[in-house]
Amino acid sequence: MHTKLDPWSSSEINDYSKLFEEFGISPFDNLLPEIPSPHMYMRRRVIFGHRDYEQIAEAMRIGAPFSVMDGFMPSGKVHLGHKMVMDQIIWHQEMGASAFVGIADREAFSVRGFSWQKCREIGVEEYILSLIALGFKPDGLIYFQSGCENVKDLAFELGARVNFSELSAIYGFSGETNLSHMISVATQAADILQPQLEEFGGPKPVVVPVGPDQDPHLRLTRGLAGKMSMFRVEERENANGGKYLSVRGKGAPKEALQELKKRIPGKVKLYEEHLDIIETPNYPFLERLGLQINQPEKKKYFTTEIEVGSKFANEIKPPEFSEYEEYFVFRKVWKLTRKILEEIVAEVTAEFGGYAFIPPASTYHRFMSGLQGGKMSSSIPDSYIALTDDPKEGAKKVKRAKTGGCVTLEEQKKLGGKPDECSVFELMLFHLLGDDEELLEIRQECVSGTRMCGSCKQLAAEKMYEFLKDHQEKRELAREHLDEYKIIYKK
Ligand code: SF4
Repeated sequence: MHTKLDPWSSSEINDYSKLFEEFGISPFDNLLPEIPSPHMYMRRRVIFGHRDYEQIAEAMRIGAPFSVMDGFMPSGKVHLGHKMVMDQIIWHQEMGASAFVGIADREAFSVRGFSWQKCREIGVEEYILSLIALGFKPDGLIYFQSGCENVKDLAFELGARVNFSELSAIYGFSGETNLSHMISVATQAADILQPQLEEFGGPKPVVVPVGPDQDPHLRLTRGLAGKMSMFRVEERENANGGKYLSVRGKGAPKEALQELKKRIPGKVKLYEEHLDIIETPNYPFLERLGLQINQPEKKKYFTTEIEVGSKFANEIKPPEFSEYEEYFVFRKVWKLTRKILEEIVAEVTAEFGGYAFIPPASTYHRFMSGLQGGKMSSSIPDSYIALTDDPKEGAKKVKRAKTGGCVTLEEQKKLGGKPDECSVFELMLFHLLGDDEELLEIRQECVSGTRMCGSCKQLAAEKMYEFLKDHQEKRELAREHLDEYKIIYKK
């Protein structure tokens, strides 16, 4: 049976690994060594998958511009599940991203039937105050979809590139789906692409940290990024399996293509609607990439010039690698060549008044389970902890939570507990314990039967009390400083 991903239902995803095969989401593990000081969720495998996050990791490493974007539907109480997303936005902001947070009031209006006024109240009182209290910096942009002209205009334009059949295939929309709901979907695609508008510095990698249920938005937007762009830079394969780069521009003005050809050094073939870059030129071009290769003439693959074309790709196909280092340099050249090409394409696109979007990247995190086991549900307050819960009540909820312990103490001493089925351990893993060593120790003690659930509950309840108390004080401070933030409201 296929996994169904639906942003508006509460479908539970039991087997995350299926998502790798079915939806082409890549495992995050392999990327971890490439990320400078990875977030706790990355180290602890709470973030398990990604699409195209390599470009974000690279931007962080080399200090290139990138953005983080996310949205919250103002539908109810802000809780620990939302905190997970906010933590990731703030972390990326700290790592150098320009941050964009959309309050999806168009979605709440169309899906929940909330008034604009109610959306605004919930948006500020629940989400924005907590976001700021958790550490969101004032240089980020917060906006209500209904007040953001950029997003509304772009959503309308995106709407012209997607039809009902595509929406049905991605979201399972039916004849019952109202038109506003469809518009809200286009609005979310516009949210995700907004950071790449000229006004915000043009095309750049953008990451959207989400739970896997939000993946349909990413798939739609990634497709639209290509369709909306005047040109697309693509990696293509020739009949021999050799790779080359190609710039495609369906409907792009011929003059724009010619301008591109002029600006791209090296051998370029110009076709009716696209040009293929058969070879990149040599060193001046590489210097522009910021790449230095020592004694290139001694390297077998760099004897004449750096070719990123079919001939070269054929030469270095994996079985023939003799030196890993050379392969590594080749990959680096390839990636940077592509990047510089994207920059040239973006310049020309801007000159000819078109859009240039890089398909957005995403990360996928595990969902938190309900405190009583099963799913968190907004209709069952005991299943989740709201960031506005009275700290004492929050601590009590922890004490009432389901654990992975045995029925009797004797049994637990003998058999050990099951931290992976324990919502108290999950709270510590996701939120309450920043120290990996301490967490690991608790896990080992639990499994070996030397730790009893009472001590975990006591520790987690105390930490929860402290966190909520501190967070709520910071929320009040945030309220006083709201006007220092860039917030776009509905007029
Ligand atoms: Fe959970 Fe702690 Fe009990 Fe283990 S000992 S099952 S981690 S509460």
